[in-house]
Amino acid sequence: MIGLGEVHRLHLWAAAPGEHTCSCGRPVPGCPFWSRVRDRLAADLGRPDLDLAAFPTCVPKPASGLHRRVPRLLDLLRAAGTGWMWRTAASAAPSVRAEREATRNSLAVFRAVAAVSGRPVLVDSTKDAGRLACLELEAPGLLRVIHQVRDGRAVAASAMRRDGVPMETAARSWRRVNGNLLLVLRRFPAERVIRTRYEDLCASPESEMDRILRFLGAGPARPGAVLRKEEAHIIGGNPMRYRRDETTVAADERWRTELGKEDLGVFERIAGEMNRGFGYS
Ligand SMILES: [Zn+2]
Repeated sequence: MIGLGEVHRLHLWAAAPGEHTCSCGRPVPGCPFWSRVRDRLAADLGRPDLDLAAFPTCVPKPASGLHRRVPRLLDLLRAAGTGWMWRTAASAAPSVRAEREATRNSLAVFRAVAAVSGRPVLVDSTKDAGRLACLELEAPGLLRVIHQVRDGRAVAASAMRRDGVPMETAARSWRRVNGNLLLVLRRFPAERVIRTRYEDLCASPESEMDRILRFLGAGPARPGAVLRKEEAHIIGGNPMRYRRDETTVAADERWRTELGKEDLGVFERIAGEMNRGFGYS
């Protein structure tokens, strides 16, 4: 198994080497791993000059859909489209065509990574329901989903701290993101989805990792396995990937002291039901 981070960012990071570095410490164009992936992609696609910066693995999102009343064609396809509808729409509508190109590029990256790493199981930690739906439309049956949830109150507290938004905004955002994901997950039969809870993973990393690895067909976990950050080539994600001295896993439970009664009441009104559906009380 190999973890890649958020693969949808690959072209963005390749285009801005001064701003972002792979977790190995080098920018994507100078990283030996991603350079090998580029070379393999160039060979696979017969494009010797292929530039990762010009090989989009995602399409920039339009402005927040929070207030959009009329769903876009793309939203409808992701929620209920078939492979035939997806391909037909891509040939007719430029917005769907761009999305399909990014989806196919992502799949080509996965194949190239599998070839250069020799690992049969890849983990893309992009957290985007729309992208997940597009990948399933393009390559039905290929993906398995690790659906990691975290107490929505913790996620909302984090958004309030990071973005300075009120609880109302943070709770609505959490509900919207998770609602979209639950809609897309209906596409996947139960045996291709595993749900894990952030809190369980932090409390018992070995047993949760074992459960995930077995689900992926890559288990069992090796007892006493340690996090070897220096060997990883992760793009995107939490800055802790750079902090080599942090190798233990500890849950961030700041929300329990940060959120007052009023904020908890607002969260409960907006998102309490969904949160309980994930097993949080
Ligand atoms: Zn690297």
